[in-house]
Amino acid sequence: MNIQQIQEAREEYGIDGWGDGYFGIDDNGNVACYPTGEEHLSIDLPKLIEQAKDMSLEAPMILRFPQIIENQISRLHQAFREASWEYSYKGGHKAVFPFKVNQRREFIDHIVSCGNQFSYGLEVGSKPELLAAMKYNLADDALFICNGFKDREFIETGFIAKSMGKNVILVVEGPDELDHIVDIAKSYESFCPDIGIRAKLYSRGSGKWAKSSGESSKFGLTTVEVLKCLSILKKHGMEGKLQMLHFHIGSQVTEIKRIKNAIKEASRVFAKVTHMGFAPRNLNIGGGVGVDYDGSKTSYQSSANYSLQELANDVVYEIGEVCKREKIPSPQIVTESGRVIAAYHSIVVADVREVQSTESFSTGDDFEIGLDEKTSHKSLGELKYIFDNITRKNYIEFYHDSIEYYEEMFTLFNLGYVNLEERALAEQLFYRICRRALYFSSFEKHVPQEFEALQQRMVSKFLANFSIFQSIPDAWSIDQLFPVMPLSQHEQKPTHKATIVDITCDSDGCLERFIDRKDFRKTLDLHAPSDRPYYLGFFLVGAYQESLANEHNLFGAINEAEVFIDDNGQWEIRKTTIGDPIDELLTCRNYETKDILESFSTQLESAEKEGKLDQKSKEVFEDLLKKLMSGSPYLNKSINIK
Ligand code: PLP
Repeated sequence: MNIQQIQEAREEYGIDGWGDGYFGIDDNGNVACYPTGEEHLSIDLPKLIEQAKDMSLEAPMILRFPQIIENQISRLHQAFREASWEYSYKGGHKAVFPFKVNQRREFIDHIVSCGNQFSYGLEVGSKPELLAAMKYNLADDALFICNGFKDREFIETGFIAKSMGKNVILVVEGPDELDHIVDIAKSYESFCPDIGIRAKLYSRGSGKWAKSSGESSKFGLTTVEVLKCLSILKKHGMEGKLQMLHFHIGSQVTEIKRIKNAIKEASRVFAKVTHMGFAPRNLNIGGGVGVDYDGSKTSYQSSANYSLQELANDVVYEIGEVCKREKIPSPQIVTESGRVIAAYHSIVVADVREVQSTESFSTGDDFEIGLDEKTSHKSLGELKYIFDNITRKNYIEFYHDSIEYYEEMFTLFNLGYVNLEERALAEQLFYRICRRALYFSSFEKHVPQEFEALQQRMVSKFLANFSIFQSIPDAWSIDQLFPVMPLSQHEQKPTHKATIVDITCDSDGCLERFIDRKDFRKTLDLHAPSDRPYYLGFFLVGAYQESLANEHNLFGAINEAEVFIDDNGQWEIRKTTIGDPIDELLTCRNYETKDILESFSTQLESAEKEGKLDQKSKEVFEDLLKKLMSGSPYLNKSINIK
């Protein structure tokens, strides 16, 4: 095994940084997953994909590792336990999982079952999330927090959830929500949930979601509104119902300093409310804990400059200090972290179907075109001359000349003076010249900017069998960076500087930015295509990506495999889920499968009647279309039309 190359690959893709103990490259050059965070319990991902294939599960697929969820839940609770011990904090800590981060039932099932031992609760922000969450039996002391804008119906449902024995806290986003609560409580006092208030803080978060916080954020109550709510509660003798003060400064907060500032401010608000005769038990600091997507541990957008332990220490310390100074009891700290719990647990795997390289312009492969003296144009001759004579000394000038002659060939083509063979030859020569020029430019201490741009133009495009819009929508919508890398062949040096394109018919369906410890890079190092399947892994995609997935081009949810490992290192796929079939995707757009199939039959029958189709072919085609309708929308094998 080429250990040195494998080590280079670990550094190149930064896996030991962002993998956070869950992912690495093994000594065979394959990417491995360590679902429990222990290196001796490892799963070889290419082998796992082979096993999934044996179970008829093809890429693209999501590999889900529920043990990572469990481990992250445990890390979060452990961090707060240690911090509380360190600072002798008596208020305690409870966590809830925000439903919106990943609403897939399979995922929430794991959250609930793994979280039971920690009295892990749920947070919802809409009526569908509320109803789905109400199905779960949580631990007796787990919290059930209702955030988001609420109509009367939402609030009434909160009362019903309370009647089922859940520890419901309705966090009011506006005084009118409180009016509804007070009114409904007149009829159902014994089922009236506890009440929380979401405060608008002056302190702002950092990173892409900073606008969720600060005075101009769309969420939370202004100080005047907070006072109004307190007076409504007092007026109705409901002071005891106020049990939570809440704030959330945005997701993926990249700087710990921002979190500390917000905590100081919120703790003061909490203390002042307490001094006004209320006794809220919980200070809910929301979510926002950042995931280190690029492994740089910095305040860059795709990173975070703190660890979970550092966060817990700072939160506990700051709240404790304010409470001491304000002489109030320490509140129970509530966290609503979603991203950091969910992100690591799943990987999207896509198979590479094609490599589009500028080599196809320049080599001609088995389709070499000779220079025909009679038909060749002056510009073509010049391109040939440049190609034969370009050197390290003249490459800049020769490259500039070649652009001119190449453009001239296209002008002549548009005027009708150049035939297709001549155009193809011009392309071949020009791209060969570009490659030589790039080669010579690589010797420069400072590569001229135009050659950097040329390098970007010359990258290979790897066509991956998946949809960016479905599987990593944030990469498209907000340019979020996720770690991406091949799952095998790390014992070999990559040969291509590449970007990734998906199979949607949309030019936005491409990845041209990749993680880097400093900033981002424009290409990814990938290997030359061979007979072996080549899989790309898109990592840390377990948070928000499935919730935000869209079905652009009608590419729906992909296949899934749920994988567990035991204490002896034996792993197994415990559950597989087939992705959305074509008929389901069409049904969601109001098509009816029956209608479609009937229409196919009618058209095929007409063709048969008109003598364009024999009866046997008609029957075969009908069957194939039926099969296709219930099949996967992603690139597949042939449907065997013969
Ligand atoms: N709580 C609230 C109110 C939120 O709006 C969000 C998401 O933005 C979260 C919790 C979860 O945040 P994160 O996933 O960054 O931990």
